[in-house]
Amino acid sequence: MTGESFNQITLNRSALRHNYRLLQKRIGADVRLLAMVKADAYGHGMVAAAIAFSEAGCSDFGVGEIGEGVHLRSSGIQGSIFVFLGFVQSDVELFFEYDLVPVIYTLESAKALSTEAVKRDKIIAVHVKVDCGMTRLGLMPDVLDEFVSELEYLPGIKMEGLASHFPKADERKSLHTLEQFHVFKSLGGNALTRHTANSGGILYFPDTCCDMVRVGIALYGYYPDGLSGIQFETGELLQPAMEFSTQVLQVKTVPANVGVSYGHTYITKTESRLAVLPVGYEDGLSRRLSNRGEVLIHGKRAKIRGRICMNLCMVDVTHIKGVQVGDPVTLLGSQGNDTISGDEIAGWMDSISYEVLCLFGNNNERKCI
Ligand SMILES: *Cc1c(COP(=O)(O)O)cnc(C)c1O
Repeated sequence: MTGESFNQITLNRSALRHNYRLLQKRIGADVRLLAMVKADAYGHGMVAAAIAFSEAGCSDFGVGEIGEGVHLRSSGIQGSIFVFLGFVQSDVELFFEYDLVPVIYTLESAKALSTEAVKRDKIIAVHVKVDCGMTRLGLMPDVLDEFVSELEYLPGIKMEGLASHFPKADERKSLHTLEQFHVFKSLGGNALTRHTANSGGILYFPDTCCDMVRVGIALYGYYPDGLSGIQFETGELLQPAMEFSTQVLQVKTVPANVGVSYGHTYITKTESRLAVLPVGYEDGLSRRLSNRGEVLIHGKRAKIRGRICMNLCMVDVTHIKGVQVGDPVTLLGSQGNDTISGDEIAGWMDSISYEVLCLFGNNNERKCI
């Protein structure tokens, strides 16, 4: 008796290692590959994913908030851990205690780090985030020089790197990416560790790799532009690492013209066999997949009928013989000869694979294989 959930995420560590090695080979050994493990490694489990990447040779990791960095370091991860979203001043000690690299974009945070460094008789290395066109976090390019010279006056702090971020590198012909990179190259001094490329950058704009790249989605086996990324891939394919499965809770035959689930948004056209599944939007199966999504049972596709509930949904198995309680159901991954990918689900949801992976991975029990 384990009380295990019906719903299970399975993570394939060898796929994560494969993706790391493939991408490191693509960018060349001279470029550092920072693994973005924010959002619990896009739903894959931050520590487990970081261990898999470490095994494949990774020694640079990126998180959003400082607490994630503390957790990663406390779990025994070696190498550099970059904190990308800044920090509140009362947390400044954590950078020193857990050996984390701050990515900064305000003078106040630089001053707080400087004061703490002096107190500890240490020098802390920081990376500065500049906004070359993402219009998100970061200093505007025109104030960078002033910022850098103010930083030089602060004791105990050393600017080691310069970072920016591409908004359109997943569009392989985006002129904006090249224009933005041109601006980025013109900024800061020569001695800095530069990084701006994300997955789209390294796959579609390899000339933008600089000294380091920050990779998220590609490490998890997906192309930032979804299915067209796979279609245009000429080399070895990335391998998705996540599968999501459940099992049939009940099978029932209902007559034609009955409404299914809340609001009766689906009415059966003929006598139908429905399988009830113990998975709903609380498990990351977005309500947007109501009457749109599909799952695999006995290696065949079954459509979601009616609205997805909080922890239940119904699928049509009229055309699949012999479906029984307990039969395995694949929501993401392969069964028989068919596969449902995060890109396909994202298409039904009008979203991107990133969101599907986070929703599934971060709302269910996970196990690694
Ligand atoms: C998430 C993130 C990345 C990785 O983006 P992908 O498209 O998943 O490769 C890179 N840099 C920053 C700052 C990020 O927040």
